[in-house]
Amino acid sequence: MIYLDYAATTPVDQRVLDAMLPYFRENFGNPSSVHRLGQKAETAVESAREKVAAILHCRADEIIFTSCGSESDNLALRGAAMAKRIASSRKWILTSKAEHHAVSKTAVQLEKEYGFLLEWLDLDEHGAVTIESLSKAVCNDTALASVMYANNEIGTINPIPDLAEIAKANNILFHTDAVQAAAYMDVNVEKLGVDLMSLGGHKFYGPKGVGALYVRKGTNLLPHMTGGGQEFGLRAGTQNVPYIVGFAEALHLAAEERESRTGHVKPLRDHIIGQVLETIPDSRLTGHPENRLPNHASFVFKDVDGNLLLQMLDSAGFACSSGSACKTGNPEPSEVITSLGYSRDWALGSLRITLGVDSSPEQVDEFLKVLPALVEKARGLNRK
Ligand SMILES: *Cc1c(COP(=O)(O)O)cnc(C)c1O
Repeated sequence: MIYLDYAATTPVDQRVLDAMLPYFRENFGNPSSVHRLGQKAETAVESAREKVAAILHCRADEIIFTSCGSESDNLALRGAAMAKRIASSRKWILTSKAEHHAVSKTAVQLEKEYGFLLEWLDLDEHGAVTIESLSKAVCNDTALASVMYANNEIGTINPIPDLAEIAKANNILFHTDAVQAAAYMDVNVEKLGVDLMSLGGHKFYGPKGVGALYVRKGTNLLPHMTGGGQEFGLRAGTQNVPYIVGFAEALHLAAEERESRTGHVKPLRDHIIGQVLETIPDSRLTGHPENRLPNHASFVFKDVDGNLLLQMLDSAGFACSSGSACKTGNPEPSEVITSLGYSRDWALGSLRITLGVDSSPEQVDEFLKVLPALVEKARGLNRK
């Protein structure tokens, strides 16, 4: 099997696993315990927090460990919206239809069930939120804006520092979902200017089931998990010590090896884009042509059933995706692709290829050898 789906998840780096293992059995203590075994676990969690803070250029007490990227998004949106409601009458939430469902469905719930008002920000033809679209939407009553750093389905990178600046000038909290971006982009929160930022471990060779939320000092959140006072009272529950250790090590390695990882995947990615557009008729690149994640290639093919194409690729030995992994098996076109303006006959034929540290030129060549014929075959079946 040739794995071309690193945006869905990545394998745990051996060095990350080695860092985690001692915290399952030898050092299994509860970080909240007073005794030495507990203190050892607490030290591990606090070192991990400092390691993450150093990469984000923030204070250690601005990092909240969570159970995943989705939880970080939920805590950011629901926590900030609820805290705003307590402190002021600001009711509007601004976000876009290109967001991961962990953001967009949370925003919809806040509108439907909790009385907030929701405005979808306009997207440009590459699926980016522009300075103009945010400027146009902000008002005195805006509580919060949430715009993802880089899109998981189409790879487009948003101009976060510019957007955060507009939010700041209007006294609006700004959240970014950096779950996909953190594998390749600088996550320095001072440069980004964000108040809240979500991260998830398994997108950068860390374990699944662990994430973090950056919460700028002075930003009020209503905790969505109440109980013991863990994570500065914002997220109750005994910390998942080995996974937190793994998360920090994986983020550290991602930051340290960012240039070499980018240098490895980018030429392979560019080769895929060039070849696919050249050899496959009625094919289009989705997302921004340059301003996109370096490991990310995404396309639409006219009159192709994207899910059928994925199955055919799977049978041929290639693991790809048609967008976000959670949507596989869903016959409706992706909202992200539709919001780019593609009609149904194009939008249903989406394909996402995402590369990683173990991707090789040989794998890419093998993939490019089989893809054109499979697209033609899927197209033929579509006409029947
Ligand atoms: C994967 C992903 C998430 C969800 O992260 P989990 O850790 O799987 O919950 C959220 N946002 C984006 C952009 C993602 O790519």
